[in-house]
Amino acid sequence: MSISENINNIKSQIPEHVTLIAVSKTKPNTMLLEAYNAGQRDFGENYVQELIDKQEQLPKDINWHFIGHLQSNKVKYIAPFVHLIHGVDSFSLLKEINKQALKNNRVIDCLLQIYIAQEETKFGLDFNEASQILNSTEFKELKNVAIKGFMAMASNTDNQEQIKKEFASLKTFSLQYPELTILSFGMSSDYLLAIEKGSTMIRVGSSIFGERNYTK
Ligand SMILES: *Cc1c(COP(=O)(O)O)cnc(C)c1O
Repeated sequence: MSISENINNIKSQIPEHVTLIAVSKTKPNTMLLEAYNAGQRDFGENYVQELIDKQEQLPKDINWHFIGHLQSNKVKYIAPFVHLIHGVDSFSLLKEINKQALKNNRVIDCLLQIYIAQEETKFGLDFNEASQILNSTEFKELKNVAIKGFMAMASNTDNQEQIKKEFASLKTFSLQYPELTILSFGMSSDYLLAIEKGSTMIRVGSSIFGERNYTK
């Protein structure tokens, strides 16, 4: 199947209120353009340098989502244009985003990344840490960031019940913050499950662009 067929196929399976993010890391611009020409406007990237290069070269009406682990010293490179930063996992990172957003005279939308998996390797805040940030006066003083919701990754397992439980735990937590309406979870292997559990933003890579080859 072609990239546009893949996109249309996924779109036909998901409800209107769910945003499809095409995760294009490691993929060449020609493939992103194919998706763009099929109507796709939201793209997700994990690496700062790759994102900057693509943003320069591709159409300017693309919404660029940064979905990787973001280091504070690199925020300045994406602050002028990034649409949504998904992986905010510390207050110090949030402060740096605020600082760079102010320099660019804009408000940057962010999601707090929550740790829901049972693995040690994933980044993210636990529920208490997220609440502490959201309830703190220091956070409320940051005028150039807007927290819009939460992002998470489930355990890398075939156990559907486990994945469901993890997604559901985030949905339940998010109900304490009804104004934070974006829930970013679900990837190629589990996006339908994710939507069933309340996801409003799915991040799909390999089901659109094919498997990634990191060895090049
Ligand atoms: C790579 C990546 C995805 C997409 O993964 P697929 O399994 O290819 O759909 C989604 N979210 C994050 C954070 C990623 O790094």
